Amino acid sequence: MQIVLIEGDGIGPEVTQAACRVIAAAGVKIDWVKASAGMVAAEQFGEPLPDETLEMIRRYRVALKGPCTTPVGKGYRSINVRLRQGLELFASVRPVNTLPGVKTPYEKVDLIVVRENTEGLYAGLEHQVVPGVVESVRLITRPAAERIVRFAFELARRHDRRMVTFCHKADVMRLSDGLFLECARAVADDYPFIQFEEKTIDNVCLELAMDPTQYDVLVMENLFGDVISDLGAGLVGGLGLVPGANLGTRYAVFEAVHGSAPDIAGKGLANPIAILRSAALMMEHVGRGSVALQIERAVVKTLQAGVGLTRDLGGTGTTATITEQLIKNLGA
Ligand code: ATP
Repeated sequence: MQIVLIEGDGIGPEVTQAACRVIAAAGVKIDWVKASAGMVAAEQFGEPLPDETLEMIRRYRVALKGPCTTPVGKGYRSINVRLRQGLELFASVRPVNTLPGVKTPYEKVDLIVVRENTEGLYAGLEHQVVPGVVESVRLITRPAAERIVRFAFELARRHDRRMVTFCHKADVMRLSDGLFLECARAVADDYPFIQFEEKTIDNVCLELAMDPTQYDVLVMENLFGDVISDLGAGLVGGLGLVPGANLGTRYAVFEAVHGSAPDIAGKGLANPIAILRSAALMMEHVGRGSVALQIERAVVKTLQAGVGLTRDLGGTGTTATITEQLIKNLGA
């Protein structure tokens, strides 16, 4: 099996290499095809997202990606935004669930955040009207709105989820979220067996902080989804744990929610669990569900045992020690 590997910046190489070691130890033979993106690519090729990288993902269809930093101040557009738009990775999926052994304010949190990945305020449509005045376009189109809500319902159906919550701000952004809400209601009508609710995004933030267990699948536009994903990570133990998938109809790129963590990069302190769990989602995607399960079990076992854990998890260990434990617990 050939899969594209983008190590990325900062802690990217450390955590992706750790994940590859665990996958190899699980007995999966992957021929990793390395591609470059981020600061590394900008320095080497003068371009943070070289066309060859996009071409490779188009050829092999699936990629595991470490965090990439977009160089600031050189007129580069965000790598992640370009990657998602260029490959039509219209859905970002982030499972947010409490894990045994990780102390969190709430137990039994089990959410899936589904984020529209190509439009909204992150469409990148900004311009300066006159010096001192800029405008950003919040793009919402009916096809993209319907597509992401349908995706969320299909995900809910496949995973036996009981409810889909559409998060919006249609009371203020009457036209853009008004259209999105109208689309959400229309799609929800096709799924009478799944509960549908619509809530304003501020209300969702309040309720997530007070009782996140009341939610199930959440679907929303790009910017809201970005914020809610990090809020979700905070509810279940931090950025080092939460995986992510960017999915389209043809291609899939799996990556952790966290960034390149420049403060700990190169020190061997990064937690590889988020990217490893992203790789588990990737295994499920390529039809190796049993390997995905094996990895998730190893993660749970490692967290429960509490040996070799990295500092973000309250331990004194390193990327190397936690990786050893993850490998050891694969067979458990
Ligand atoms: P970027 O600009 O690439 O988004 P950032 O520093 O703004 O990077 P993150 O990289 O997400 O944002 O890091 C936020 C905080 O979380 C940092 O203190 C970082 O050390 C910590 N952190 C993020 N990922 C991990 C990880 N995998 N293991 C341990 N700590 C992490």
